[in-house]
Amino acid sequence: MIDIKGTLVSEGAGGVYNERMLGNYRVWDPYRSKLAALWYLDKTTTLDKDEVVLYLGAANGTTVSHVADYVESVYAVEFAPRPMEDLLVVAKKRKNIIPIYADATRPVLYASLLEPADLLYQDVAQPNQAGIAVKHLPFLKSGGRLILMLKTRSVDIRKSPDEVFADTCAELTKGGYIVEKSTWLNPYHQDHAAIICRKE
Ligand code: SAM
Repeated sequence: MIDIKGTLVSEGAGGVYNERMLGNYRVWDPYRSKLAALWYLDKTTTLDKDEVVLYLGAANGTTVSHVADYVESVYAVEFAPRPMEDLLVVAKKRKNIIPIYADATRPVLYASLLEPADLLYQDVAQPNQAGIAVKHLPFLKSGGRLILMLKTRSVDIRKSPDEVFADTCAELTKGGYIVEKSTWLNPYHQDHAAIICRKE
């Protein structure tokens, strides 16, 4: 990851979402991106230039665009029409973003478009976040990583964030992932945890 005097940046054409520039580098804001927040909190989670990323919950491409600056290719899945329009504009300006307009609860509908991924990145803010990750396990290479950005309040508002976190880890483990570590994302994102898993 590129760090200029303590500021996380990525190298690529700017002007995606009015992001600040430091010379030729795009500043990656931890308050706008959970992946950037994770980097500020745990410098060991990095991206590599030969990685294929399957990204669920692409929204308007803010984080996707930074990920694409670092890796080989990003398959970016989004099901809401309005953010998808923005994502298409972002993808048009970069050669390594493949936008997929689809529901991540039904991967069978886009399985034929994918190649095996080194990293599954998920940020969908849905009740069944662990279930969606488990459905995508077959698309990860052996030894591949999952980074699940868990929004606890979207899963069950009646349970505490800690309970939702524990239930999610249990479901991921039952579904075949090895949970390696986790980080709560405050102060950048309240009640969000990054759960890092591996496929055996
Ligand atoms: N990852 C984005 C970023 O950092 O720029 C923000 C993602 S936002 C919190 C969650 C996104 O997931 C929304 O755009 C929403 O439409 C999308 N989403 C939620 N459920 C989905 C599903 N089942 N399939 C595809 N996209 C979904």
